[in-house]
Amino acid sequence: MPLDPARTVAELRELRELTGDESGAQRVAWTETWERSRAWLRDKLDGLPLAYERDEAGNQWWTLGGESDRAVLLGGHMDSVPNGGWLDGCMNVLGAVEVLRRIAEEGTPPVTVRLVDWADEEGARFGRSLFGSSAASGTMADQDELRNRTDADGIRLEDALREHGVDLDRALDAHRQLESAAAYLELHIEQGPVLESLDLPAGAVLGTFGVERWQITWRGQAAHAGSTPMDKRRDALAGAAKLALEIRDVAAHAGGGAVCTSGGVVCKPGIVTSVVETAVQLLDQRHLDADTLATMLREAREASERFAAEEDVEVEWEQLWSIQPILFDERLVELADESVREVAGQSHRLPSGPLHDAAEVARAGVPTVMLFSQSLRGLSHTKLEDTKPEHIELAVQALDRLTSKTIALVAAS
Ligand SMILES: [Zn+2]
Repeated sequence: MPLDPARTVAELRELRELTGDESGAQRVAWTETWERSRAWLRDKLDGLPLAYERDEAGNQWWTLGGESDRAVLLGGHMDSVPNGGWLDGCMNVLGAVEVLRRIAEEGTPPVTVRLVDWADEEGARFGRSLFGSSAASGTMADQDELRNRTDADGIRLEDALREHGVDLDRALDAHRQLESAAAYLELHIEQGPVLESLDLPAGAVLGTFGVERWQITWRGQAAHAGSTPMDKRRDALAGAAKLALEIRDVAAHAGGGAVCTSGGVVCKPGIVTSVVETAVQLLDQRHLDADTLATMLREAREASERFAAEEDVEVEWEQLWSIQPILFDERLVELADESVREVAGQSHRLPSGPLHDAAEVARAGVPTVMLFSQSLRGLSHTKLEDTKPEHIELAVQALDRLTSKTIALVAAS
């Protein structure tokens, strides 16, 4: 059976009917709808010569045995955010299903090929993203904290997982799944506007951005809005406001797709008749290069100290979270770029702002790459998420080419 990318589009529509409503996709992990989507996926793969397994972290695996045990992995996730889009995560899985059908039809491949449907990529119910892939990669180190997490109804994560056959204490045993992995490939929608702005259907992903998240507290003096002259004020909001604008220059100076966001400022006392005494500001900075990210952080901090002096206020920085940039495998990026060019005539290499399961697999030391397909209007995590059917088909063709090239690379090494 030759590759039939139109079938992927038809199956994605079928899945949307089965697990979505008028507000969008409802395949939130550890729910009945999610299980229904996963059972539907198992039905789709029934009849192919694949070994099926559900691992300790709840990830689903299908294995097409090859002449060698060394495995090329294709991955995605069936779970969605509530009111999500029809493509995020499941386009990867169904594209890979199509590639697997083609390879299985041709007989025993030179290396083993496996499909993985990661459990709970989105973290929508318990606020913990990349559950299954971080268990497999071995980076999951927050077991004790996870145990006590609850959802909006007060149900504990540990109990919800048990209902779906996952014992939190054994989740890390999923690591054995990566022992034979020689490469990991993941197709995904871009979830941003870059490819659309370049009028390109697909691109090769260089890696995922490093992230620095900080909370910045500005402290001035509350004072009467009527009686305090302008030159006598110690206005905490003034510092935060200057920094919120300064980070645009920080990002522009860094280049290479750098982004800086001041996602919120909470002021106290927060009344119309008082100068702001404290302003608590949130900052998120991202870049693909670790040194550049460090420079961005330093520049923002230095600017904040300058503004604090100018406004006669105090400033204090507290780190909320950070992650290093994760670069994908250079040879695989080359093959991904080549695959896109072969099917679309032109390609583009771009970093990923969002994290993906692929980043976890790369952290585990498995050579990894992603392909992005164009997202219309750059929208995702909403029912408005969309990609033209012909671009989905092209992306599946590119994944097919990339898989063949990667199999050849692994077989020859
Ligand atoms: Zn996703």
